[in-house]
Amino acid sequence: MTKIGLEIHCQLTKLESKLFCPCKANYREFEPNHNICPVCMGLPGSLPRLNQKAVESATSIALALNCQTPEKIAFFRKNYFYPDLPKNFQITQLNVYGDMSVGGEGYVDVEGKKIKIRRIQLEEDPGRLIYEGASDRTKITLVDYNRAGTPLVEIVTDPDFENPRQVRIFLNILSDLLENLGVAEPGLEGAMRADGNVSIEGGNKVEIKNIGSFHDLEKALHFELTRQQSLSERDIDIVMETRHWDDRRKITVSSRSKEEDQDYRYFLENDIPWVKIEQSTRDSLKENMPESISSKKERYVEKFDIAPQVAEIIASDRYYSQLFENAYSEQNAKDIANLITTDVIGFIDTKEKQQTSKITSKHLSDLIDAINAKTITRNSAKVALQEIVKSGKDTKLILQEMDLGQVSDSSEIDAIISQIFEDEKQAVIDAKERPETVNFLVGKVMQKTKGKADPVKTLELIKSKLNQ
Ligand SMILES: [Zn+2]
Repeated sequence: MTKIGLEIHCQLTKLESKLFCPCKANYREFEPNHNICPVCMGLPGSLPRLNQKAVESATSIALALNCQTPEKIAFFRKNYFYPDLPKNFQITQLNVYGDMSVGGEGYVDVEGKKIKIRRIQLEEDPGRLIYEGASDRTKITLVDYNRAGTPLVEIVTDPDFENPRQVRIFLNILSDLLENLGVAEPGLEGAMRADGNVSIEGGNKVEIKNIGSFHDLEKALHFELTRQQSLSERDIDIVMETRHWDDRRKITVSSRSKEEDQDYRYFLENDIPWVKIEQSTRDSLKENMPESISSKKERYVEKFDIAPQVAEIIASDRYYSQLFENAYSEQNAKDIANLITTDVIGFIDTKEKQQTSKITSKHLSDLIDAINAKTITRNSAKVALQEIVKSGKDTKLILQEMDLGQVSDSSEIDAIISQIFEDEKQAVIDAKERPETVNFLVGKVMQKTKGKADPVKTLELIKSKLNQ
């Protein structure tokens, strides 16, 4: 039987400061090595001070993933040497001797199957190594400590996944959930990373690391399963090891034999006392948690009669659901939802575009108002949206500037239709014989008016002209 487990690392990017010092958690905006201090550089005599908000965020994640959360938590030193780790140990958590990390024994429902969460722990991110140079001979390695000490939550699952597809669905659910909680931005480069471990019947466990994206993880898992099955068919032992995903060659390659926990010489971090998390704190975190994605979806379907697929798309994306929540009224909720899923998504289909987009909820309600008042067509709304996303100018101004007002004056449309009946004689004959071909003529009117003609009125006028 195939068994796949995951270890996910997610940065708490919404926090102000690092886990143990006042340096910024958002290290991305700094020049290399400009977001550091004696604490995150591990200088002698410096002492860590725990970021209370980080403990709360991590506890919220544990609660949202249905985990047990303990009365008190402890931190440990995980000792190893690597140039990106200035202290030569990482402050993390460990579940031993009755000490606990922020959460454990939770689960996530993936298409009716419970994927168990073994533990959730709070730890610090190491720095970053940057490799430069074109060839092996010119290659140099640079180190940037801006990231060192960034709050990181590690989420470890049981090996409950039976195939890579389940893994992908789980990761989508998890990243939507973390984003919805308002503690993380999984779309940011490097903000959410996942390692996988894979084993097949009778074989050893193999860990796959160094995976850049969820898409690559799925490919890496597929490759690894095929490799292990092929070894097993030829009666070759599957070695317990860590393998790296080679993105260029699309294969996994052996990198080292896997360390055991004892190799890390874990011991209690005595510079940080046990931290008590009162029941009342946990209760209030639970109470103040943002509405879950599933309950949002249910509300959209039940209250506004929005189609379940549409509700799902909006509810599971924090950006779209915030646009929707601030735009809708009782009357236009369904229209707003449809506008988002048919047109807005086309222009804003990545997290990067979400960040640069200038669109606001007011733009959406203004556009729907204009469509419903028949001052613009749906087609023109789409044209306007593209401009709104770029410039963020007021809807009315854009409609004016781009001359997108709907043409609903009968005589104006009639004149255009007369011209088209002249130009498209065969199509007129066709439409008289086979009424279903009338759309060709409607399309011609739309072409001429750049999509501004009132479609209902256009069809009406063409039909009456055909009957003359
Ligand atoms: Zn620092």
